[in-house]
Amino acid sequence: MICSRCGLCCINLDIFIINPRSIRPDGTLDPGDPEAMIRKPAGERCTHLAFTGEVALCAIHDLPCYRGTPCDRFETIGPADGPCTLRGYLQSQGV
Ligand code: SF4
Ligand code: SF4
Repeated sequence: MICSRCGLCCINLDIFIINPRSIRPDGTLDPGDPEAMIRKPAGERCTHLAFTGEVALCAIHDLPCYRGTPCDRFETIGPADGPCTLRGYLQSQGV
């Protein structure tokens, strides 16, 4: 899936994200922290989301704590070299 960085999934998916308060100075998490993951409800903008113009940026994308998260593992249906089908779906829903 080719991500066009529209940011729609970072707003409209009901997912679990890294708790900003749980990120240590070196970008890792305490594996024993029970509050390291928090729920981000659908329709609520992720606290880690920023935009440069219309290009979405994930503030924690390059941190070690991002690896293995639901966001890191996210893929959509369709060919690996094709456009993001979720974006098309969300746009068709008028979100
Ligand atoms: S909806 Fe798809 S294209 Fe838009 S940011 Fe999410 S993964 Fe990328
Ligand atoms: S953590 Fe990053 S990729 Fe995941 S929803 Fe938030 S901004 Fe998007």
